Amino acid sequence: MMKSEYLQRVYSQIVARDPGEKEFHQAVLEVLESLDMIVDKHPEYEANGIIESFVEPERVITFRVPWTDDNGRVHVNRGYRVQYNSAIGPYKGGLRFHPSVNLSILKFLGFEQILKNSLTSLPIGGGKGGSDFDPKGKSDAEVMRFCQSFMTELSRHIGQFLDVPAGDIGVGAREIGYMFGQYRRIKNQYEAGVLTGKGLTYGGSLARPQATGYGLCYFTQEMLNCMKNDSFAGKTVVISGAGNVAIYANEKATSLGAKVVAMCDSNGYIHDPNGINLDVIKDIKLVKRGRIKEYAERVPGSTYTEGCSGIWTIPCDIALPCATQNELNGESAKALIANGVMAVGEGANMPSTPDAVKAFQEAGVLFAPAKAANAGGVATSALEMSQNSMRYSWTFEEVDAKLHQIMVNIFHNAYDASVECEQPGNLVVGANVAGFLKVATAMLAQGVI
Ligand code: NDP
Repeated sequence: MMKSEYLQRVYSQIVARDPGEKEFHQAVLEVLESLDMIVDKHPEYEANGIIESFVEPERVITFRVPWTDDNGRVHVNRGYRVQYNSAIGPYKGGLRFHPSVNLSILKFLGFEQILKNSLTSLPIGGGKGGSDFDPKGKSDAEVMRFCQSFMTELSRHIGQFLDVPAGDIGVGAREIGYMFGQYRRIKNQYEAGVLTGKGLTYGGSLARPQATGYGLCYFTQEMLNCMKNDSFAGKTVVISGAGNVAIYANEKATSLGAKVVAMCDSNGYIHDPNGINLDVIKDIKLVKRGRIKEYAERVPGSTYTEGCSGIWTIPCDIALPCATQNELNGESAKALIANGVMAVGEGANMPSTPDAVKAFQEAGVLFAPAKAANAGGVATSALEMSQNSMRYSWTFEEVDAKLHQIMVNIFHNAYDASVECEQPGNLVVGANVAGFLKVATAMLAQGVI
């Protein structure tokens, strides 16, 4: 808990106001604990209500999403957009389609997004949205009708200078395409910069699909290099998830000389001691939208185990949790530590529970927190917006080089802030403080709004 009476009061207020929002409370508590190191040096924050404003979204929109399935039956889902903070740029953050989506999860994600976007050094504010719709098992036509209905309402609230959504869990190129088509039809104009993660033929950026996973590896590589004079070369890696982030994290870690031996989906995990054949994973998950279980049927020497948490009992040097929030708990952290893990890089948002983070830090494991380590996706989304504004496209190599430099800069900003807070190497504190200072300065400059 924080020492600052001001921060304690703000935290008590958010818990009292929305008592059921546990993921949101978890994310806020971690950030406020980091700000405890600096808040006394900035009396202007309390005088201007900066922290109270920072934890409260500027606007929350919820709406009905009716759609018709292939049998003519009508379903009604709930849609959301949390427009959290626009002090440094238009709201920016993904859309998540998953049955678990609720306001607590979207507020935690939107809140984290403010700091992440600030860390990229690009002019983007924070937001997040989505729906409790489950694309799994739906036909393309059903997904299209859902996306069109979702965008029919969302289109009133977004725009290239207002709010620029992108993908997240359950929202990939297919869904972005359907939503962009509907937005264009409603607005009757070509506003490419309203969504990112678009296909290459209609304003998407090269390297955007790869960006979060590649960026995670660039960050982790810089952390290994600067803090342990080491690298991915020759290391054994375990990656959870088998979606966008996990697949490209595997691709980059492998190209940097590591061997990835395990991945999972929400049903179970595969272990391939010879190194995962990523072409098989891509075929199963990206082409066929199938289950990861099929990998063990296709690749001799590999095994499949039902359930996900066992993935962290597989010995590895580097763990990259890339599936979802709170997927790696204290017990899993202890198993990783007992097996000699040296570094953890968070590809998913808040995948490690607070006791897992504590265990890693106490054991001296290098720990790259999500809001810094997975910022490559949103950074490249901002590069997509720049290309849309210029009506110009950079090559894959140009975007990748910018992404690499951004991730190296984020590491150093977070590391330097951790040193200034007298906690050298604590990148949780460093990322929270570095991200916050920029947003707070912008909020102060703009007055009480
Ligand atoms: P995808 O939907 O592409 O993939 C998610 C993967 O995680 C799937 O393989 C899914 O399995 C698996 N998964 C979901 N829930 C669980 C669970 N409870 N246990 C184990 N596995 C699970 O999403 P993304 O790869 O885009 O996103 C993954 C994470 O990264 C999320 O936390 C997201 O917020 C974060 N992120 C994504 C960014 C991006 O650019 N896409 C940017 C920054 C962060 P199944 O196939 O069974 O559903």
